Amino acid sequence: MARRKIVAGNWKMNKTPSEAVALVEELKPLVASDDVDVVFCVPAIDIIPVAEAVKGTNIAVGAENMYFEEKGAYTGEISPAMLVDAGVKYVVLGHSERREYFAETNETVNKKVLKAFEHGITPIMCCGESLEQREQGVTMDFIRQQVKVGLQNVTAEQAKTMVIAYEPIWAIGTGKTATTEQAQEVCAGIRACIAEVYDDATAEAIRIQYGGSVNAATAPELFAQADIDGGLVGGAALKPDFGKIVNYK
Ligand code: PEP
Repeated sequence: MARRKIVAGNWKMNKTPSEAVALVEELKPLVASDDVDVVFCVPAIDIIPVAEAVKGTNIAVGAENMYFEEKGAYTGEISPAMLVDAGVKYVVLGHSERREYFAETNETVNKKVLKAFEHGITPIMCCGESLEQREQGVTMDFIRQQVKVGLQNVTAEQAKTMVIAYEPIWAIGTGKTATTEQAQEVCAGIRACIAEVYDDATAEAIRIQYGGSVNAATAPELFAQADIDGGLVGGAALKPDFGKIVNYK
């Protein structure tokens, strides 16, 4: 069965609650689609107003992070139960910005992935190499480690429902999109890694996005690739362009 495409916007640290609602109202008619899953991953403080604003539409709400404990003395953190209660269906985990600025590791990402599944939240687990790693020829070694450690103790049934976002760090927010060939090659490599860890059925089911300066011009060719099941979109997710990316065909 063909995998359903999924296009998720990562708003990063942008939009106050009132600005977030205004953006949802602007994008709502533009992202309507019967055949693509659409997710708005928004800052924690925007989740409740955005969840209210998307009611009755095809837009699902996602978080940009989550802690791996249930509750307690973790000042400033957000628990999975809080996200579920607020209407969150997806959570971005292990984004390269969180790895770089907030010391996320493959191990903490794995704990978060497991916790998200416990609460019925679909993880969008990010991976991707730096420019240095690409130039050293270790891209796939690095990504295989991120994926394998991130998926420790995740069952095949769980893995089938999740999303992996391949985001080369050198392409995020730089305006430098990976070529279609580069993106397809790594996404195919990730799928092969899933087949090794689990089986072919799991590899066929899991959805793999490309992320890194995706825009309305590059999305059609990227999303047409055999192993690219949509995109994780940063900058362009805050603009009407996002509607063109969702309706890329
Ligand atoms: C991202 O933040 O996940 C991302 C891909 O950003 P951009 O599209 O701006 O490169």
